[in-house]
Amino acid sequence: MDATTAAVMEESFDSLLERAQAVYRQHFPMECCFERAVFFSWGCTIGDCQFCYMSNQPADKKPLETKRSRASIFAEFLLAKKCGWDIGFFTGGIGVFTPDEIEFMLRVAHEITCERIWLSIGPVPKSLLVRYQPYIRGIVGSTETVNPKLHAKVCPSKPLAPYERMFVDAACLGLQKAMTFIVGLGETRDDVQILIDFIRKYRIDKIHVYGLIPVAGTLYEGACIPTAEEQAWWIAQLRVAFPSLDIQCGIWSNRADRIPLLLKAGANSISKLQAVKLFGTETAKEMVGRCEEAGRRFRGTLTALPEADWDAEVARLSIDDSLKVEVKRKLWVYLKGMRKQGNTSPL
Ligand code: SF4
Repeated sequence: MDATTAAVMEESFDSLLERAQAVYRQHFPMECCFERAVFFSWGCTIGDCQFCYMSNQPADKKPLETKRSRASIFAEFLLAKKCGWDIGFFTGGIGVFTPDEIEFMLRVAHEITCERIWLSIGPVPKSLLVRYQPYIRGIVGSTETVNPKLHAKVCPSKPLAPYERMFVDAACLGLQKAMTFIVGLGETRDDVQILIDFIRKYRIDKIHVYGLIPVAGTLYEGACIPTAEEQAWWIAQLRVAFPSLDIQCGIWSNRADRIPLLLKAGANSISKLQAVKLFGTETAKEMVGRCEEAGRRFRGTLTALPEADWDAEVARLSIDDSLKVEVKRKLWVYLKGMRKQGNTSPL
């Protein structure tokens, strides 16, 4: 551990928080938004990461049978765009879709959002990065933890080395690089130096700092949820070490009360909320209120449906007519549900 990091680790949490807040204010506007991760499957061919719900799917359900429909995926991208949510990343289980299918979905997602998106589908070889490059701004390595011993235990079939190669390839292509880090897997505070070195080595642009969600049936069922202070400590350490790093804090619907602390620690935005299911509910209103409590203006909406010509939005997509019909049908199902959840704005 270098002397600076050692000194930082000695300081009190309040002092660290204050410094992290000051660094954040110097480098970013006082706003935040919700980042949506759009999933394309609920199964994965790796399937043995010890914390992941995808490793706990029924044995008779083959990963390739867990694909979400393309219509549902595109409908969600449309909702996200109109609600002003950032797209955290497009993701799902490893090996579930073919490169052709991924490329098609990326093309349409790019057409919907009018921007290049983050992609998180496991380690991607350079040849495929080149293929996906017109539609992606960067790749996300779902690294989860960078302590080698802990990583080998938590992700036995998902080594770090292929992600490290992907980061090098992405850099060569001018793509941005993001990673994930889950607080609560068993790391110790001493591991912060390993994380800092990793971010520095691969010039990581963005990190998603989650708090463990103990999933029934996994190794972590019954494990302690990391406290808000613990999650905030990691965020604050990273904010102080990397003033310009984009740091996302993963929260969960029952953890809204930790939002002000995580934002004060220097997180840019919030993610990991069931935003469609919770849209317009008291929980969603609380989320927005908690961001404002931290002195941040909330960009986008989790509470009021935007006005949009939804049919026209679908009509302009370059997909075949039968798929357009399906996207519209799915979109209206989502909108009906979102409206029911206490929202009275026009569709
Ligand atoms: S590779 Fe990703 S999706 Fe698959 S089991 Fe591991 S964490 Fe879950």
